[in-house]
Amino acid sequence: MMGDVNLLNFDRDGMTSWFETLGERPFRARQVMRWIHRRGAAEFGQMSDIARSLREKLARGACVRAAPVLRSGASPDGTRKWLLDVGQGEAVEAVYIPEPDRATLCISTQAGCAVNCRFCATGMQGFSRNLTTAQIIGQLWMAERELRPRADGQPTNVGHAGPESATRAISNVVLMGMGEPLQNYDAVLPALRLMLDDDAYGLSRRRVTVSTSGMVPMIDRLARDCPVALAVSLHAPNDALRSELVPMNRKYPLPELLAACVRYLRHAPRDFITFEYIMLAGVNDSDRHARELIKRVGDISCKFNLIPFNPFPGSDLRRSDAQRVRDFAGILTEGGIVTTVRRTRGEDIDAACGQLAGAVRDRTDVAARRASIPLVPAVSTAA
Ligand code: SAH
Ligand code: SF4
Repeated sequence: MMGDVNLLNFDRDGMTSWFETLGERPFRARQVMRWIHRRGAAEFGQMSDIARSLREKLARGACVRAAPVLRSGASPDGTRKWLLDVGQGEAVEAVYIPEPDRATLCISTQAGCAVNCRFCATGMQGFSRNLTTAQIIGQLWMAERELRPRADGQPTNVGHAGPESATRAISNVVLMGMGEPLQNYDAVLPALRLMLDDDAYGLSRRRVTVSTSGMVPMIDRLARDCPVALAVSLHAPNDALRSELVPMNRKYPLPELLAACVRYLRHAPRDFITFEYIMLAGVNDSDRHARELIKRVGDISCKFNLIPFNPFPGSDLRRSDAQRVRDFAGILTEGGIVTTVRRTRGEDIDAACGQLAGAVRDRTDVAARRASIPLVPAVSTAA
């Protein structure tokens, strides 16, 4: 019998306090953390260097439980997607994007989103619920278990704990899936701390990115509590247009948002902020918009990432064509701003980050319909 306390909800401090309530010392908490997060263990019976009496005590009171995988899909370019059951009929997605020099996991923080950006399929569904820390860090825990090579070359996805020295499958994490991470701050913060903790995932701050639509007070809190790399979804060079695209802007307009970016830079692990800019044909993609952007960001140290809009059913917006995106990027570059264009990956499995569409309500039908490669029901990958 497994107990009810889900240990995936605890960062180091949480785990230590909970062990204290059991009358156990902090180093035991650390040992268990390493088993769970470094080796992917889900069963206390596997934790061979822990006394049997403690293992039994843990098994009575606790469990290690990530959101169950409903379906998963893989694209020929190596991109993988999982659809995860977060309870009460809601599902979210995690996407794995391998590249030659890194492998990124894009994770979700909420089912739906209350910000309601006009170009976003998640926003159009409205807000459903916040994920728990276990459901957030569980995406990384599950993906590592599925993807990390085992010492004997077998995948780890059959519930085996891998050796501690096993190479990690994922080098970067971006909170760019469904939801606004800074509107679920209390659950996101322990998950971020676990990503950075050497007894868990040990990622450097530069390799963990929070993407936000611009919740100014929470940007300041993140700077104090856990300054990871920051991406800000800008999408427009002026308040009139931005308020139309990103309703959050009415509460925290551009002057306040950009001032928060400048403050963040004093704490940030990278010496720039990434500005995400979705390219919408005839809306925000003219030469004039590009020139206005250069003036607007002034001397803030930043990079631009232009994101070609991913259309979805029910949206009247269109993607800027490739030449327009190149010309827009050219103007920013000439203005002295490092600019990249996001390649769309895994479109055949509907896996472009931030485009985790349709997975919430009516999820199985929508996901199956929208995926042109079949998503196969999962063979019990998460505990
Ligand atoms: N809520 C956060 C993080 C999740 S959205 C945020 O808004 O930053 C992650 C990124 O995907 C954002 O930059 C968002 O603007 C972008 N995005 C949303 N819908 C998209 C779409 N239909 N096509 C392309 N990018 C989209
Ligand atoms: Fe929410 Fe981000 Fe989508 Fe806007 S773009 S609705 S903030 S998930």
